[in-house]
Amino acid sequence: MQAYKNFKLYNLESGDLVDNHVILVEDGRFKKIGRDVEVPAAAEEIDLQGKTVLPGLIDAHIHSLSDASANPHQNMEEENDAVTILKAQKSLRKTLSIGITYVRDLGGPNYYDLGLRDAEINGIIQSPRLQVAGKMITMTGGHGYRIGREADGVADLRKAAREQLRAGVDVVKIMATGGVMTEGVEPGSPQLTEAEMRVAVEEAHKAGRKTASHAQGTIGIQNAVRAGIDSIEHGIFLDDETVAMMIERGTFLVPTLVAPYWIVEYGVENGVPKYAVEKAKRVIDSHLASFELARKAGVKIAMGTDAGTPFNKHGKNTYELKKMVEAGMSPKEAIQAATTGGSELLGIDDNYGSIVEGKVADMVVVAGNPANNIEVIFNIEQVYKAGNKVV
Ligand SMILES: [Zn+2]
Repeated sequence: MQAYKNFKLYNLESGDLVDNHVILVEDGRFKKIGRDVEVPAAAEEIDLQGKTVLPGLIDAHIHSLSDASANPHQNMEEENDAVTILKAQKSLRKTLSIGITYVRDLGGPNYYDLGLRDAEINGIIQSPRLQVAGKMITMTGGHGYRIGREADGVADLRKAAREQLRAGVDVVKIMATGGVMTEGVEPGSPQLTEAEMRVAVEEAHKAGRKTASHAQGTIGIQNAVRAGIDSIEHGIFLDDETVAMMIERGTFLVPTLVAPYWIVEYGVENGVPKYAVEKAKRVIDSHLASFELARKAGVKIAMGTDAGTPFNKHGKNTYELKKMVEAGMSPKEAIQAATTGGSELLGIDDNYGSIVEGKVADMVVVAGNPANNIEVIFNIEQVYKAGNKVV
């Protein structure tokens, strides 16, 4: 048993810091949290020296096997698979070191993400906990087809979803529209149809798994929402009607504001393919406007980065919090998106996302209050997984 003392507890609801609490952790879970907690003589006492304690952060959208180089998919195709996997291991370690204790990997090649997930569970790698999507399901020639499972028509979509479930994925990822990183497809164009997506969602939900859709254009987003998807990833072209549909159904938005930002920031001069830079430039303003529309209307938002896309580096994930704040969100809400938002979307809120008695003791230590200045979150001093200090 561990007893954490002398810290300020960050209150997710109010953004205030609360003094004079003690946290008791037993068998990796928060056993008691409060002012009048008696510390058993046998407990190991940990003095946190007046620092601030928050729950471990959650990134709901990464690609651990993409290396955030100028053209990650090309690298992935050309290099030996062992190199890809070892780079992913390093990327995950970096992600953990900045306070992200849980990630959702939304697709990679050859089910390697499932192996990484299992390696984390078995203590083989230093990594955030992972939920993984395996092969993203896309139409023939659709967004991400080079590493995805191409599927066409209702029967094939059902089969493709079942294949992912058989492989052991935690979440089924479906492509509702084109995107930035695949040459020749348009972010605004719908791809898989509503009927196709509906059967994939049905199969996932029957198996108790969540679904996520890459969805950028309005029609494709609406198709995915009507098909029953749990989260819209990117959501670049939202309008009032679409936002209302999302609120009605409780559909999450995972904005990934940093993804086009880094592509435009580094650009062709740093080797990003021209088609990607041009598309990112075209969508970046709509992306920010859609985020603001959704946020003001009250759409549920979870923090996600798309880390692994060009110059969207693993270990820089929390930059997304700063982007969300720049786009109008309060720091307090941004932290909620990266904790309780993520845990609700991933369906792990019974065990993760907040510092509550009974939950797993994943937490981070910073100096100061991130609700006053979001950049406080950039200086993570300690990271705990199940009460064990990992950073
Ligand atoms: Zn992605």
